[in-house]
Amino acid sequence: MSKKYKLGVLGNPIEHSLSPFIHSRFARNENINIEYLPFKVSDSDFELFIKEFFTDNASKGLNITLPHKNKAADLEGIISNEAKYINAVNTIASNKNSLFLHTTDGIGFISDMQNNKSFSFMNKNVLLIGAGASAESILYRIAKEKTSQISILNRTKSKADRLIRKYSNMAQVNSDLESEKPYDLIVNCSSAGLTGEFKPIENILTKKDTHFYDLNYSLVQTPFCRWASNKSDKIFDGMGMLVFQAAHSFNKWFSVFPETQNVIKDLEAMRE
Ligand code: NDP
Repeated sequence: MSKKYKLGVLGNPIEHSLSPFIHSRFARNENINIEYLPFKVSDSDFELFIKEFFTDNASKGLNITLPHKNKAADLEGIISNEAKYINAVNTIASNKNSLFLHTTDGIGFISDMQNNKSFSFMNKNVLLIGAGASAESILYRIAKEKTSQISILNRTKSKADRLIRKYSNMAQVNSDLESEKPYDLIVNCSSAGLTGEFKPIENILTKKDTHFYDLNYSLVQTPFCRWASNKSDKIFDGMGMLVFQAAHSFNKWFSVFPETQNVIKDLEAMRE
């Protein structure tokens, strides 16, 4: 029997995480023996948990989700430039007694858009709704993709303004809604998505092939996707990003990029 690697995802809440299912499928396809568990960990137990988890030689890595991504960027370890810049970590990989800290949310989003939705960011008009950790991880990546311009809309305007200041040397970023050219892509990075608190955005310029992408996902249509449904037929939720960010994490642990399409199909089938 091959060595069994210990992995898991840390968050709070964590009960409904699909990560154990996704990583178990990746590992089975790649013939890698893993145990991947969800761990509900409070803020105060976070550092101790990580320390104890990695004392076991079989422990290969962890995913980090809400609300711990910022805190994980302060862990002792070797942090990637991207994770350091956005101050968020969603993947920890253990190698030769060191912890490597990464973020795979931004690249997960880009991979899903480019590979599965055939979307090119070049010269496109993008609206990001939200200014939290996921919005910044996406902004960091799309700012490098030669977009035409990126608008950021957030409930707390000062947080959108912080991102605009930070990224204005990398792209055209602003907080005003576009008044001339319709948006090519609108991404909902707000966690209001699932709670039903999503508020429709008035006077927004769209066209028939505007892509609407909700980072949130569920077995039923999210409020954002419902709002978009009479505006375009290019409407997606965050299931694809979820699988791709997981695939990039898996790659950090095992240096192989797992098969994603069948895993996405299986998740889609759960909705039917
Ligand atoms: P953060 O907590 O960092 O940011 C939350 C954002 O949502 C902030 O902009 C916040 O605005 C906004 N928000 C929260 N509640 C409301 C509300 N009632 N009305 C309007 N805006 C609100 O979270 P993340 O950025 O990490 O995650 C955002 C969402 O994306 C989550 O639901 C998460 O599950 C999902 N996600 C999905 C991924 C995937 O792979 N599909 C990957 C990562 C995240 P304010 O600044 O005003 O507080």
